[in-house]
Amino acid sequence: MALIVHKYGGTSMGSPERIRSVAKRVAKWARAGHQMVVVPSAMSGETNRLLGLAKEVQPAQLDAAAMRELDMIASTGEQVSVGLLALALQAEGMPAVSYTGWQVPVKTDSAYTKARIESIDDQRVRADLAAGKVVIITGFQGIDPDGSITTLGRGGSDTSAVAVAAAMKADECLIYTDVDGVYTTDPRVVPEARRLHTISFEEMLEMASLGSKVLQIRSVEFAGKYRVPMRVLSSFTPWDIAIEEEATSGTLITFEEDEKMEQAVVSGIAFNRDEAKFTVIGVPDKPGIAYQILGAVADANIEVDVIVQNVSHDGRTDFSFTVHRNDYQRTSDLLNQTVMPAIGAMQISGDPKICKVSIVGIGMKSHVGVASTMFRTLSEEGINIQMITTSEIKTSVVINEKYMELAVRALHRAFDLDAPQNLG
Ligand code: ASP
Ligand code: MG
Repeated sequence: MALIVHKYGGTSMGSPERIRSVAKRVAKWARAGHQMVVVPSAMSGETNRLLGLAKEVQPAQLDAAAMRELDMIASTGEQVSVGLLALALQAEGMPAVSYTGWQVPVKTDSAYTKARIESIDDQRVRADLAAGKVVIITGFQGIDPDGSITTLGRGGSDTSAVAVAAAMKADECLIYTDVDGVYTTDPRVVPEARRLHTISFEEMLEMASLGSKVLQIRSVEFAGKYRVPMRVLSSFTPWDIAIEEEATSGTLITFEEDEKMEQAVVSGIAFNRDEAKFTVIGVPDKPGIAYQILGAVADANIEVDVIVQNVSHDGRTDFSFTVHRNDYQRTSDLLNQTVMPAIGAMQISGDPKICKVSIVGIGMKSHVGVASTMFRTLSEEGINIQMITTSEIKTSVVINEKYMELAVRALHRAFDLDAPQNLG
C-alpha cells in the first residue's frame, strides 16, 4: 500500500462526465489498496471566467485590498470542483471528503495572487485516510496568517499537489493533464516532437522556467527541494487501463543524473513569446549604472530576465534587458520618465516583438560545442541573435519573434531530437 497524490488539471475536470471519469480512475487506485489524496484544478475556463467577472466590476489598477478580493473570487473555482469530485466518488461507492485550502489548512504568506505555501497541516487528512476515505483538497489556494484566502498564481494547483505530497511524504505525485507527458518541445510547433520517458529534475526546472507550460515552475522547485517523485501523465487514457500500465506511462521526473548519461546532449527546446526587450542607449559607463537601471525596475516589482551590457565606446555603453511583455508599458514609462533623466542616458528603445528560444540538457555539462551548434544552426537559417544567456545546462537566445517557429524546428533537427533513439 502506498500513499499517492493525484493532481487533475482543468481540462481533466472540464465537465460532469470528465469528473465522473476522474472519480472512476481514483476509485480504481483506492481499490487497489492505495491511500489517495486528490488535488484538482477548477473546471477548465472557470478561473478565467471568475477573474473576468472581477475585471468587469473593477477594471482599474488593483491595490492590495483589491488583490485580496481577487483571491477570494478565484479560489471558488476549485471549491466547486473538489465538491463535485467528492460527490462523484461517493456515487462510485467510494467514501470521499473534500476540503478547501483553509480547512486543511494550507498556510501561505500574504502575497495575494502569488502566495507561497509555508506549511501544511496533514492531521485531518491523515485521519480521513486512516478511516478509509479518499481526501480531495482544492488546488491553487491557502490561507494567510490573517485568515484571508490566498491563491498561488495561475497554474498553482500543480504546486498545491506537490506540496501536499511533500508534506505527507507521499510515495508519488502523479500530475494528470491533457498531454501525455513532457515533450522535447511543443508538438504544436514541431510535429516530430517526442515524449521523454524521463527528464531530470534540473532539466524540468529549466524547461518550466523557460516557457514549457506543462508544469508550474514552483511545483518543480518544490519537488526538487523535498525530492518528491513526480510523474506527468494523461488523464485521457481509458480510466480502466491497468494500474501497472498507467503507473509507468507519461514522463517521470528523476533525481538521478546518471540515468541520463546515455541520452542526448540536449533534451529539449523551450521557447517563450512573453518577453519584451529594452535597450538603454548611451549610458555613461561608470560604477553603479546597472544598479541604477535595474534597481529602479526591481523597485517597481518588474522582473528582469536576460541582461546584456555592451563594451563601452567613449565612456558610454548600451544596456539591454528583457521583462515580461505585460510589463512593457510600465517599464517603458519608468525608463523614459525616471531612469533616463537620472542617469543621463541618450535614448531608450523598446521592442515587444522578441522571443526567447532555449536548448536544455544535462549533457551540456560534459560536452563542448553545444552552444556553437546552436549558433551555427540559427545562422544557417539567417536568424539574427540579439542576446545570449547561458547556464550550466541551458543556452538561451533572444531573437525576433517572427523567426521563433523556424528556430525551434531547426534546433530540434540539429540536436537530433526528431530521432527515435532519444526516447529516454
Ligand atoms: N485554476 C487555476 C488556474 O487556472 C489553478 C490551476 O489550474 O492550476 O490557474
Ligand atoms: Mg495547469
